[in-house]
Amino acid sequence: MDTVIVIGGGAAGLMACGVLSKRHEKVVLIEHNSLLAKKVRITGKGRCNITNDADISEFFQNIPTNPKFLYSALYSFTNEDTKRFFEDMGVPVKTERGGRIFPVSDNANDAAEALVRWALQKNVRRIKASADRLLIDEGHICGVQLSDGRKMEGESLVLATGGMSYPLTGSDGSGYRLAREAGHTVTPLKPSLIPIETKETWPHELAGLSLRNISLRVYGRKKVYEDFGEMLFTHFGVSGPVVLSASAHMRRFDKEEYSLEIDLKPALAEDKLDRRILRDFEKYSNKQIKNSLDELLPKALVPVVIELAKIPPDKAVNSVTKEERHRLVTVLKALPLTVRGFRPIKEAIITAGGVSVKEIDPSTMESKIVRGLYFAGEIIDVDAYTGGYNLQIAFSTGHLAGENA
Ligand SMILES: Cc1cc2nc3c(=O)[nH]c(=O)nc-3n(C[C@H](O)[C@H](O)[C@H](O)COP(=O)(O)OP(=O)(O)OC[C@H]3O[C@@H](n4cnc5c(N)ncnc54)[C@H](O)[C@@H]3O)c2cc1C
Repeated sequence: MDTVIVIGGGAAGLMACGVLSKRHEKVVLIEHNSLLAKKVRITGKGRCNITNDADISEFFQNIPTNPKFLYSALYSFTNEDTKRFFEDMGVPVKTERGGRIFPVSDNANDAAEALVRWALQKNVRRIKASADRLLIDEGHICGVQLSDGRKMEGESLVLATGGMSYPLTGSDGSGYRLAREAGHTVTPLKPSLIPIETKETWPHELAGLSLRNISLRVYGRKKVYEDFGEMLFTHFGVSGPVVLSASAHMRRFDKEEYSLEIDLKPALAEDKLDRRILRDFEKYSNKQIKNSLDELLPKALVPVVIELAKIPPDKAVNSVTKEERHRLVTVLKALPLTVRGFRPIKEAIITAGGVSVKEIDPSTMESKIVRGLYFAGEIIDVDAYTGGYNLQIAFSTGHLAGENA
């Protein structure tokens, strides 16, 4: 009898499973976690940014790696389809800043449970086990061997084992090994959407301090990124939404060094900021400079800024020179940091790199090397910026693989 196997009960695998269950008598879902959709439940800080409202051309601009490969997948199951899918499954959605779409309930578990309900139809058999080896006969998939030695037979198989970040959610990278053993090329795996380690150590002392409404600029040989938002100092450097997004634009560590500039006052042009500081200086003219900036900056940041502006901290405000004040403005508009590197891949939101798209048929997700083998989700060498694009990639490729497997 016609059996299809899906390995991986995450966003992509569950989508594939639900689609397959409409077309096949027997679907087997193999997932080594007890809990299905474990990663989905922690997405979007527990709110699950399921997709983005962007029109399709903007969608592709948010996918830096192999966007063309995703044309068929994203056109055959669009962001509108994702919205409708969740609404139909009883999860109403809403749109927020930047087109980000979330469940109205702000609860990622609602999205995860809807996916699980969709996947576990009555002809789907769920097996809690780890897939250890793909069984291939004369270039055609014929099943999978589990780590307990059991063999499952199937005429086709969807490999949707995710990346290798946040391994506690189950995506331990074992799928890449399965793909390699099946003859596939796996392009170098790198973290993306990842906190940044800085060469400077002063951020370490500010660990826990978060800054809202800052603007972050990233320079390689030229400016590669600029955005406005929220960031966080940590014991290794910097993190937070705008930093994670920035990291996805630093892709040439082999060729370039990167530096950051934090504009602490993006709403004020330099001359306006200077006038604002002058007002504060008049108000606190008899204080020391280190005690005069509390209205302008978080207290913990004041000594850092004064030092970088090369002003003696004990200097009386009324004797600060014009040059010193200008240096202060410059630091406030462009607080400099040097990038040492990224945190380890297990801390990344996304794994960049994966099964080479040259070896996958983009219109079906079928392997060009092993007949009957399909790929879906983060295991493929595609990745996107933040904003709901990565889950949409998982849903679209999962849907397409499900329709064709
Ligand atoms: C903290 C965090 C927040 C995120 N927030 C967002 C967001 O808001 N919006 C967004 O678009 N994206 C977000 N992402 C990214 C998004 O979650 C992933 O891109 C997406 O889940 C990938 O789906 P997937 O099905 O390919 O992989 P996964 O969801 O990782 O699923 C893979 C599954 O395969 C199972 N598996 C792996 N190997 C085996 C094996 N050998 N045998 C059996 N089972 C196996 C794993 O246990 C896992 O359940 C976030 C990621 C993280 C880490």
